Amino acid sequence: MKELLEKILKEGTVLEEDVLKVDSFLTHQIDPELMSLVGKTFADKYRDKGITKIVTIESSGIAPAVFIGLELGVPVIFARKQKSLTMTTELLTASVYSFTKQTTNNISISTKFLTEHDKVLVVDDFLANGQAALGLIELCQQAGASIEAINIVIEKSFQNGRSLLEEKGYKVDSLARIKSLKNNKVHFVEEEN
Ligand code: 5GP
Repeated sequence: MKELLEKILKEGTVLEEDVLKVDSFLTHQIDPELMSLVGKTFADKYRDKGITKIVTIESSGIAPAVFIGLELGVPVIFARKQKSLTMTTELLTASVYSFTKQTTNNISISTKFLTEHDKVLVVDDFLANGQAALGLIELCQQAGASIEAINIVIEKSFQNGRSLLEEKGYKVDSLARIKSLKNNKVHFVEEEN
């Protein structure tokens, strides 16, 4: 998605060769216009697929997920990283190792929101080593829901998340694919084509 690549080049900053900071439009401050375009771009690809739910993880997956859900007219569920006092019903749970925080979280979704009748788009802001996506997949599997695709805003293609997910048979669909962050510069996979 051209507008996203331009925004990354203009406002993204590289930390430690493998982490991209995009807090001015995605992970802290959010650019609603850009997120709306992200929502439309993904939704256009999946309008005829019978999607019933969007599943993401708090917090930075929520913005793109909501815009996809709005476009497709379906509810958006975000997995919680901490159990809320109000979550009194039965829970689907999985553990996820966080790439950026280097901690393990138990993530959960209430069983009442995800069932075997659901067809899901899994959404996240970043794909690095695929652990967040795998956790969300596990929650969908526990519910018996089927997964149409994994929708990622920014994929770091030099890490192994995509291959891990594809090996398990999932379709990975990313709007920006980063080949490298070497020398503090962003290089996209698309540049090769
Ligand atoms: P994974 O689980 O695929 O290893 O990592 C994905 C999760 O880690 C995303 O949900 C995202 O929050 C975070 N993450 C991974 N890489 C980056 C990065 O380069 N920048 C930012 N801001 N977050 C990242």
